[in-house]
Amino acid sequence: MTLEQADVALASGARMRGVDLSIGGRRLLHGVDLAVDPGELVALIGPNGAGKSTALSVLAGDVRPDVGEVQLGGRAAAGIRISELGRLRSVLLQQKGVAFSYPVRDVVAMGRMPWSRTPQSDADDEIVADALARTDTEHLADRDVTTLSGGELARVALARVVAQRCRVVLLDEPTDALDIGHQEQVLALAAGLAADGCAVLAVLHDLGLAAAYADRVVLIAGGRVLADGPPREVLTGALLTEVYAHPVEVFDHPRTGSLLVLPVRQPRAVATGSGSLKR
Ligand code: ADP
Ligand code: MG
Repeated sequence: MTLEQADVALASGARMRGVDLSIGGRRLLHGVDLAVDPGELVALIGPNGAGKSTALSVLAGDVRPDVGEVQLGGRAAAGIRISELGRLRSVLLQQKGVAFSYPVRDVVAMGRMPWSRTPQSDADDEIVADALARTDTEHLADRDVTTLSGGELARVALARVVAQRCRVVLLDEPTDALDIGHQEQVLALAAGLAADGCAVLAVLHDLGLAAAYADRVVLIAGGRVLADGPPREVLTGALLTEVYAHPVEVFDHPRTGSLLVLPVRQPRAVATGSGSLKR
């Protein structure tokens, strides 16, 4: 490969086309097309069990589809060695737990393992420090990872992914367990990685976050892509109401005009002092 070809490969993001996948006799993905290009943040949304994590694992090159093509950095994922996959894409798994006692700093440094014995490893210490700072986990660096709260653990797991410094970043529910301030911080970080030229895909359940931060939204349900486009095209009340089997309203923020997505709720019953409910 010439250097020029290498640049093209680095700039090609991740994509899968026509992917079918069955596991244990169950068809989990049906003809899925999914792409994330350099410079964009794509939100992958859909109900529980839709196939979001499964699609992400295929895009990451971790699971091979029965049918269809998967490309990472412009190359067929099937031909990429595991050692090399770790330098092409980083993955935040939905399960963020760590089974063993390690200091947080060492867990984040594990993100550097794919770069060992390469020139990039010279900067490991600075890169780990930068990842801790960008995820607001510096103050946790010396803690035992098994003692962290859910939200702290989620940010440490993200720090490890950031430290891996890949051009393709795949995040499965990165805001899971985070408070509202840290949710915004994490999405701003993801958008910042995209602005730096990374291809970033994030599975999100908070549709307001998807509306606010994603360049493109992909809606998946029952293992099929139902919509793929700019937030305003995909996040419509009619489509979300149908897919989530609950009435959903979408409207513009009265002051900023940004898109808001909210479930329709019944008026609350008025609680009485005796603990009974009165309508
Ligand atoms: P999502 O991330 O959208 O909530 P998943 O991709 O994790 O959904 O799973 C999609 C569907 O596939 C779910 O119904 C899940 O129970 C099922 N599934 C996932 N992994 C397996 C597996 N290894 N064997 C059988 N079914 C699975
Ligand atoms: Mg999932």
